[in-house]
Amino acid sequence: MLLIQQAQGLFFEKYHSIFIINADHNKKALFSRSKVFTDMICSGRMEIVMFYKSTRNSDIKVTSAEAITQGISAEGGLFVPEEIPAISIDEIKGLADMSYADRAAFVFSKYLTDFTDAEIHYCTDNAYTTKNFESESITEISHLFDGTYMLELWHGPTCAFKDMALQILPYFLTTSAKKINLDKKIVILVATSGDTGKAALEGFKDVEGTQIMVFYPEQGVSPMQKRQMITQEGSNVGVCAIKGNFDDCQNGVKSIFTDNDIKAKLENGSMMFSSANSINWGRLVPQIVYYVSSYAELVKNEQISAGEKINIVVPTGNFGNILAAYYAKQMGVPVNKLICASNINNVLTNFINTGIYDRNRNFYATCSPSMDILISSNLERLLYILTGCNDAKIKEWFGSLAETGKYEVSDDIKKLLKQDFCAGFCDDNDTKATIKKIFDEYSYTCDTHTAVAVKVYNDYIAETGDKTKTIIASTASPYKFSASVLEAIDGSAPEIDEYDMIEKLYEHSGYAVPKSLAELKNKKARFDVSIEKSEMKDFVLKNLGL
Ligand SMILES: *Cc1c(COP(=O)(O)O)cnc(C)c1O
Repeated sequence: MLLIQQAQGLFFEKYHSIFIINADHNKKALFSRSKVFTDMICSGRMEIVMFYKSTRNSDIKVTSAEAITQGISAEGGLFVPEEIPAISIDEIKGLADMSYADRAAFVFSKYLTDFTDAEIHYCTDNAYTTKNFESESITEISHLFDGTYMLELWHGPTCAFKDMALQILPYFLTTSAKKINLDKKIVILVATSGDTGKAALEGFKDVEGTQIMVFYPEQGVSPMQKRQMITQEGSNVGVCAIKGNFDDCQNGVKSIFTDNDIKAKLENGSMMFSSANSINWGRLVPQIVYYVSSYAELVKNEQISAGEKINIVVPTGNFGNILAAYYAKQMGVPVNKLICASNINNVLTNFINTGIYDRNRNFYATCSPSMDILISSNLERLLYILTGCNDAKIKEWFGSLAETGKYEVSDDIKKLLKQDFCAGFCDDNDTKATIKKIFDEYSYTCDTHTAVAVKVYNDYIAETGDKTKTIIASTASPYKFSASVLEAIDGSAPEIDEYDMIEKLYEHSGYAVPKSLAELKNKKARFDVSIEKSEMKDFVLKNLGL
C-alpha cells in the first residue's frame, strides 16, 4: 500500500484522480489534484487508491472493493482498472524466493490498492495453502519439449484452473463487503454446466458470511461433475438439479437476481446477492498472478534469462484466462505473442484473424466442453483497453452483438489485436491425436482442453518457425476428462463407471490420482433434489430461511 506521503513525487504524473480513504475505511471522497495536495499535507494516514471504470460508462468509477462486491456494473459494463500498474524485471526477479501466496499478495497490492496489506495477506494466506492445493508450489511447471513448458493450474480441490481464482474470491468478497460497510450475508447463485459450479462450491464452502447455491442441468453434466457437486460438503452450500438445459439454469438465476420481491426479502434478512462468474474482477486478478509467478520461476530455474521474451498459449472459452496473460504482459512480463487456442467453436479464432465477431453459427458440443462458448464476455475488457477506453464504441459493438449477434471492429483495432495475439483452433480428432502424440513422444498425459492449446501451438511453430520459449496453460487434470483421454491413448470406449476409467488412466500415466477425485467414490450424496425451473425461486427462499 502506497502512503501518500511516500508518493508525493509520483502521483502527479501517474494518477488522474485520487481517492482518499480515512483510517477506518468508511468515509471516502474524490478530490481534485490541488485539493489532494493540501489534504495530503494536512492529514495523517491516507492512501492512493486505484479506480475501476465501467466499460460501458467511463464516468463510473469505483474502488476494487466496490467492483468485486458489485460483480458487474449496473448499466451492464465490466469493471477494468483505470490504468495497468507496472512491475519491473527486478521486482519479478525478487519474487523468485517467495511463496505463491506472497507472490500473489505482491501482484494484488498493485491492483487492490484500497485493501490493506493485512487484508490482502488474510486472503492469500487462506486461499493458497496446501490445505487446498495438492502442490507445495500451488502451480507446477513441467518441461514438455525444447523450450516449451506446461503451466499446470489444476492442482486445486476441483482439478481445474478455475480453483486458482475461486479459492480466493470468497475472501475478496467478504473482505470487500466489510471494507465498504456492507454488513450483510453474501448469497452466491451459480448456474453451471460443470466446472464452475464445483469450483465455486469448494471456494465458498464454510466461508463465514456467505451462502452458495448451485444449479445444474439434470442431464447436462458429466457423471464425475455430478458426483463432485452432489457430494459437496459444507454448512452453507446448496446444490440442485434443474429439469432443463444450461440455458434454463442461467435464465432462472438471472430472473432471481432481478426479482424485486426476492431482493426486498433479502434486504430484510440482511442479505445480498453477488456473483462468482468470470465477469467479476475478483476472478480475473488472481489469474494474472500465475503468469507473473511462472515467469519468475523460469528465471529462477535458469530456463530463461531475466528480460527474455516468452510466448503464452491459452486454451480459451470466455477469454478470461488469456486476458489475464495480456494484463501480465502490459504490467511488464516480457511476452512476445499471446496465442489464443479454441476448439471447433472457433468464434475467437475468426475474430482475431478478421476483426469480425460473429456468433451466428452452429454450436458444437466437443470433448473440451469448458471451451464450448460462443460469447466470450471478457473480450469486452480487451476492446475497451485497445480503444483507449472508448465506452461509446463498446456500447455500439456489444449492442450490435446483442441485437444481431455480430460486430466488426475498426482497422486500427484489427492491427492492435494482431500485434499481441495469434489465434488458431482444432477439432476433436486433432485434440485426441495430440493427446496421443504427446503421450507417446514425451510420456506426458494432458486433458482435452490443454491438448487444444498444444495442437494450436504446434501449428503456430510450423507456420512461423518462431523459436521463442513458450508457456502453455494447462487448465485441467487429465483425470477430470478420463473418458476422452483414455479413448485418445488406447482407443478404449467409455465405461459406465468413472472410477474404472480413472484406474485405467492411472495405469497408463502413472500420475497420482488427485485425492479430491479418489475420495468422491466413498462420499455420500447429500443433494438429490431435482426441480422444475419454475420452482427455483421458492428453492432459494426456502434455503435462505426467508
Ligand atoms: C473454463 C475453462 C477454460 C476456458 O477458460 P476461459 O477463461 O473461459 O477462457 C479452459 N479449460 C478449462 C479446463 C476450463 O475449465
